Amino acid sequence: MNEQPVRRKIKELEVMVAEVIYETPDTRTLVFFTGNDPLEYKAGHFLTIAPQQFPALERWTSYLEYLKSKKEPPRAYSMSSCPQEKYLAITVKEERYLPGVTPFPPLLSPILALRTAPGTRMVITGFTGPYTLPDDIESKTDHVLHVCAGSGVVPSYSIIKDSLLSGRKLRHTLIYSNKSWEDTIFAKQLLVLQKQYAAQFRVVFCLTRETNPAVFSENILSGRVSKEILKQYVDDASHQYVFACGPSISIFDKKIAKEKGVEPTPRFLESVLQSLAELGFPADRIKRESYG
Ligand SMILES: Cc1cc2nc3c(=O)[nH]c(=O)nc-3n(C[C@H](O)[C@H](O)[C@H](O)COP(=O)(O)OP(=O)(O)OC[C@H]3O[C@@H](n4cnc5c(N)ncnc54)[C@H](O)[C@@H]3O)c2cc1C
Repeated sequence: MNEQPVRRKIKELEVMVAEVIYETPDTRTLVFFTGNDPLEYKAGHFLTIAPQQFPALERWTSYLEYLKSKKEPPRAYSMSSCPQEKYLAITVKEERYLPGVTPFPPLLSPILALRTAPGTRMVITGFTGPYTLPDDIESKTDHVLHVCAGSGVVPSYSIIKDSLLSGRKLRHTLIYSNKSWEDTIFAKQLLVLQKQYAAQFRVVFCLTRETNPAVFSENILSGRVSKEILKQYVDDASHQYVFACGPSISIFDKKIAKEKGVEPTPRFLESVLQSLAELGFPADRIKRESYG
């Protein structure tokens, strides 16, 4: 029998920014008012936003399209809200232009993160993405490990809230890497969740540029997420599920490295996947999302 193609419910929606929440110096949560239509999304899904719709960006968009000889694609943003919550929200971190390092100035994230006021209207397209808990997850494992860096925590934050609020029995451990405590998105919210759901949720912060991280909270480690750190939170690599999300080698990094005749330098995601493979995690138990 022929399988019916899966019909995705992707649609455009005009939304209004109801609230802008300060998370860190370069990151804001945009809470959207979406009207009365029911929103069909899963925790871990993303929506997309086309830069062409913002009049304030029109000259930038045209100029970058001219320089790159191609249309600027819509940018993807994971929901930081979860389906049980009343409002839809995304959390955007401003990308920086690093002269001599990044080829072009980032287009959309600076205005979404730093220049969007309540009342702003925009068109979003959603919702989709494979970074979601399998429906039968509870028959496969009772412990999910999330390994995230920077804004890579956004979809896992939604998944963890969704799982805890919906009464699933799963336990979640989040290993979350940032440069500093000030940069750590959702730090307070994660600590509150850990207190509320002590038997089911644990967060471990890894800070790469703090000399004395213990002053901020318990469960803070110094340095990068290493194989040794991951090993401490693995119950059973053949049964545990992993969600890993953060910066990775982009197609642009690959192109630049190829032109120079070198291998691209592994970033957060590549190092974590390497460590997980060495710890014995089968690839089909690891969901990954790349923000690089
Ligand atoms: C599934 C998914 C979910 C995501 N969720 C989130 C989220 O929840 N929060 C969040 O903050 N981000 C998220 N992102 C990242 C987001 O989509 C954007 O990539 C990010 O905001 C940067 O967009 P930008 O327009 O500001 O930068 P861009 O204009 O896309 O530039 C980003 C970098 O790419 C380089 N670049 C761009 N074009 C070229 C080119 N043609 N050649 C060489 N280099 C180029 C630029 O120099 C710059 O360094 C997600 C990404 C994905 C794929």
